Amino acid sequence: PPRRLPSMGRVLLAKPRGYCAGVDRAVVTVEKALELYGSPVYVRKQIVHNLHVVRTLEAKGAIFVDETDEVPPGATVVFSAHGVAPTVHEEASARQLRTIDATCPLVSKVHSEARRFAREDYDILLIGHEGHEEVVGTTGQAPDRIHLVDGPEDAAKVKVRDPEHVAFLSQTTLSVDETQTTVKALRERFPHLQGPPSDDICYATQNRQVAVKEISSAVDLVIVVGSPNSSNSVRLVEVALDAGAPAAYLVDDSTEVDASWLDGVETVGVTSGASVPEELVTGVMAWLAERGFNDVEEVTSADEHLLFALPPELRRDIRARE
Ligand code: SF4
Repeated sequence: PPRRLPSMGRVLLAKPRGYCAGVDRAVVTVEKALELYGSPVYVRKQIVHNLHVVRTLEAKGAIFVDETDEVPPGATVVFSAHGVAPTVHEEASARQLRTIDATCPLVSKVHSEARRFAREDYDILLIGHEGHEEVVGTTGQAPDRIHLVDGPEDAAKVKVRDPEHVAFLSQTTLSVDETQTTVKALRERFPHLQGPPSDDICYATQNRQVAVKEISSAVDLVIVVGSPNSSNSVRLVEVALDAGAPAAYLVDDSTEVDASWLDGVETVGVTSGASVPEELVTGVMAWLAERGFNDVEEVTSADEHLLFALPPELRRDIRARE
């Protein structure tokens, strides 16, 4: 039972939150592929980093695998929103798989920047988190030229061939503030540093961080809905704490919210990562309402209207069926 029932607990709901254009496109890609080709459709890696999305697509007939060699020859495979190295396309083509590439166009943009800098023989410093799928896919675009810089401390250590011929790129889902610190440290070390105008952090990551900052100083607790392997969701917890929230927790859904977190709390902030379906936020809001937190205010810091077209190979097959 709830430990405390405030007469009217407040909830500040951050907006924008939840699905970004790249996640929406990737999820719809798998759904449409299932409709078009029938099940099973194989998906290499989690299509987006959210447990519920993966389970829902599994129930519809998607089979998630780690590598293309687990996909039977001739079958259909979707590549996840985080992007893949060119070698993955080669492996798939050697197995005669039908491939659909759901790489977010904003990740593809970083891939082409990486290939361009590599063609121009730059050493490329990729700011990102070691082992994250997007970092693996981007590194694969120019494996001999890319060096990982995982945070500001790495900026002082990374080795390059010619300090005057260095470029940087970044993962799309990093902390905006920490990345600025890293880029500044790199610029001090390499005054000729080339790169994107600010960084490659995408609009959705930035907007969700700005939105959670807006509410963090006015709440006693922030609940971020998202999976632990979702980079942008984990960053939202860190940003909330940095922006003054006394406590912030990541939950996959309402079953993971701990009632003791509400002890002495009057105002709760709620947001969700870019891979999180809104129904999971609705579930957390219902859980809070049952405990007296039913004075809800949505705090909007930006409007988002971006939509991406489905992958061309899928659109072609949809058109052919019509
Ligand atoms: Fe694309 Fe950004 Fe969404 Fe990643 S978080 S899928 S880069 S829009």
